Amino acid sequence: MFGNQIAGQISAEGKSFFSSFNPVLNSKNEEVFSVATSEEIENALDFLEKSFYSFANSSSQKRFLLLKKIAEEFLKSKNKIQDAYCKESGLSHERFEIEFNRTYNQVILFAHFLEKSNGDVISENEADSLKNLPKLTKKRIPLGPIVVFGASNFPLAYSTLGGDTVAALAAGCPVIVKAHPFHPETSYLVGEVIQNAIAKTEISPGIFSQLFDDGYYTALKLVQDRRIKAGGFTGSYQGGKALYDLAQSRDNPIPFFAEMGSSNPVFVFPELMDEKKEEWTSIFAKSITNDAGQFCTKPGIFFVPNTSSGEDFIEKLCNNVLAEPSFYMLHPTICSSYEKNKIARLNESKGVLFEKPDELESNQGRQGVLVTNVEDLFENPTLQDEVFGPFAIIFKYNSNDELKRAIELLNGQLTSSILCSDTELEEYDEIIFTITQKAGRIIRNGVPTGVRVCESMHHGGPFPATTDSRFTAVGTDSILRFTRPVVYQG
Ligand code: NAP
Repeated sequence: MFGNQIAGQISAEGKSFFSSFNPVLNSKNEEVFSVATSEEIENALDFLEKSFYSFANSSSQKRFLLLKKIAEEFLKSKNKIQDAYCKESGLSHERFEIEFNRTYNQVILFAHFLEKSNGDVISENEADSLKNLPKLTKKRIPLGPIVVFGASNFPLAYSTLGGDTVAALAAGCPVIVKAHPFHPETSYLVGEVIQNAIAKTEISPGIFSQLFDDGYYTALKLVQDRRIKAGGFTGSYQGGKALYDLAQSRDNPIPFFAEMGSSNPVFVFPELMDEKKEEWTSIFAKSITNDAGQFCTKPGIFFVPNTSSGEDFIEKLCNNVLAEPSFYMLHPTICSSYEKNKIARLNESKGVLFEKPDELESNQGRQGVLVTNVEDLFENPTLQDEVFGPFAIIFKYNSNDELKRAIELLNGQLTSSILCSDTELEEYDEIIFTITQKAGRIIRNGVPTGVRVCESMHHGGPFPATTDSRFTAVGTDSILRFTRPVVYQG
């Protein structure tokens, strides 16, 4: 049985248990996980609070060494983690390799960021004795203990050792992770990596704990606890909004950075549609269907001119989507929600659904494209909501005015893709400005999937893509979520 990981120890009071699921074998995995009890939650929070002072005051050099150790331990455990990852998610070995490297590189990126850091000073103003003005030194300080919730679809890159945990540790904040119940063994092994790394430094083991729960009790307790000073969440709109509201309803509300779903609109402009049809329909078909479209950056809605070239483009895109392989979805519940949402979109629209006709294995996502007119969106704006899975809706538009009206209706997004020529970029300047108001990353002539982890990345966007569009969940700027400025006078 696997216990909760609390301050370098394993605790399994064992009052209730759960197991994960193998979507490929269509059966439960045999490993059993102990659900955190109230006492265990209390214990972990206590350690977190007690370790804050020394961790917050540790040098960036010490935190650099911690992240380097974590990266080393992570590499050492690669094979063990791979087995659990594939077994619990249905994701392939190739995908594991990509996600493992991304997670590793993310830790290294933050380690280098700390290595190069010249302290926490933001700016300084010297004293002016003639004018009797004091010296001011503005610094960044860590917020305090952070709770992190990982997503089902990134068992590594947005989970136990995901961007939230790494950014919080780099900032000097102790972290408590509530492991995702779809991949507890993967989370456990990565938790072990972090615990082992901490044990090889002089840092208190109290700065990291990971708790397991297949229900909401642990999440609710953690978000409401006075010792928690901020939250990082990656997951569904329902989960993110519920926890964000809870964080705001506390007597002392805290920042809660929820990175949620997105439909990542794609705007196709007329000029290059014929010339680029083969290339664009091929890369977008892969982007919709790869790993069963289970990405927050999957392109989920398209706007295509209602012309004969537009029709050709749509036909080619639909054919390509249906020709792509089908993939296992992460869990039977995700697969059944996907089917339900796909059919709901069809019923809410006047469009036609093109679906892959082949017989599929249990838990594989059947890709589909719904083709309709933009009037459908005007009548029913919820058609734009994310369908998590290998599915997209194509809205045909008749004029620039219709396109502009549609853009104004759109909710906040993580990304928007614009497929256009250089001339169109100038010609549609105002429309593109309106698109930019809606998203955190604007992609020119490319797909939104594949988030580069680096200094300049912005992974975020206006609500409901995230709860705070000013911050990113990916890249070194994500550290800003877990710090606040303080000015020292005198
Ligand atoms: P999820 O069901 O919201 O799960 C995320 C975590 O939140 C889980 O630990 C879950 O616990 C917990 N949770 C959910 N609802 C809760 C509630 N009401 N109260 C307390 N805890 C709650 O999301 P998911 O299915 O793992 O992930 C898929 C979604 O994540 C998609 O919409 C995708 O677009 C989005 N996503 C966003 C990003 C991004 O960077 N913006 C990245 C990846 C994925 P339980 O499992 O026990 O419910």
